[in-house]
Amino acid sequence: MSNAKHEHHPAFSHRLDALSPSSIFRIGARAKALSEQSRDIVRMDAGEPDFQTPKYIIDAAKQALDDGFTRYTPIGGLPMLKTAIREKFRKENNLHYNDDEVMHSCGAKQALFNACMTLLEPSDEVIIPSPHWGTYPAIANIAGARVVDARTTFDEGFTLSAETLKQCLSPRTRMVILNTPNNPTGRIYSRETLSAIGNVLLEYPEVFILSDDIYEHLRFDNEPYANILNVCPSLKERTLVINGVSKAYAMTGWRVGFVAGPADIITKMQQLQGQTNSHTAAVSQVAATTALESGLRDVHRMTQTFAQRARLVTETLNDIETIEVQPPHGSFYCLPDFSGLIESREGIENDQQMADWLLDELGVALVPGSAFALFF
Ligand code: PLP
Repeated sequence: MSNAKHEHHPAFSHRLDALSPSSIFRIGARAKALSEQSRDIVRMDAGEPDFQTPKYIIDAAKQALDDGFTRYTPIGGLPMLKTAIREKFRKENNLHYNDDEVMHSCGAKQALFNACMTLLEPSDEVIIPSPHWGTYPAIANIAGARVVDARTTFDEGFTLSAETLKQCLSPRTRMVILNTPNNPTGRIYSRETLSAIGNVLLEYPEVFILSDDIYEHLRFDNEPYANILNVCPSLKERTLVINGVSKAYAMTGWRVGFVAGPADIITKMQQLQGQTNSHTAAVSQVAATTALESGLRDVHRMTQTFAQRARLVTETLNDIETIEVQPPHGSFYCLPDFSGLIESREGIENDQQMADWLLDELGVALVPGSAFALFF
């Protein structure tokens, strides 16, 4: 369980008490500063593809501006984008949704924010398997909920087991967040594990499931993708599936994500979005439509490169005696165990100091594991 006490600053809302400076940004800022001093820094800190958005998507966006896509759009998204989202779920995930069951958002991050603000009350509990992306607990906390840390281990391949889930569930549990392929571990949940998790959740009808599939296409095997709904379709009435174009199509800056789920929840999320940022830019919506409609050729090309890099990193690190690493199955992350190296180096006590040392001495920018709630 995460029982962290948060400091309250009298000038600011209690909603923000749990927000702390991210060590991802800290390392990123230091890496940038060193690069500006002409140091040769290998940047492995940022969670985005280093590729440019495919040219045909950029061309479609240029054309869209000329065609007048410069105005407000419907909150849920341009009709053509909604159709492309529904078709994507049908063709790629065998999931069938109506128009009122899908909406776009300003990145998958806003879909997650909309979902938490719509479904969570203070005193609700959200189960998040750790290690995890730091934004999940931050948003759950902003929504007032309490985070229950479902800790997974290196030995179980960093995937949530049905047993750990059972231990974390309580009468106050309102949401479980699943993310496969996973940030930061790069691991993929097997159908068996998802099915075991689904069977547990069938016993808890008041719990919502948030499936974050943003790395769906960045997989290094030839197995078909599976999320919890593919193995446990009867959870559909309380599952939100979140995805987006940022990672697969190298479109992080365009800010287009989307979410599918029960119509009543989507309607509320749209109302919330309508009173916050309304929608992402019209031109970005056209670009995302083009991406979703155009097939996965470029996605596969980029994924092959991610796979080659993952192999290189895994093999190289495993050759170092004090470092252990499990090969990532997907995404563009890898989570090596540096605890042996930390123990072996005098003057280095923890992962933050290790990350600083790697940056200063070797010019390699890596994110400390504690940014993902990873503690050995
Ligand atoms: N989900 C996970 C697990 C992520 O790692 C990220 C980005 O780092 C996102 C969602 C957000 O992606 P987007 O750019 O669509 O907001």
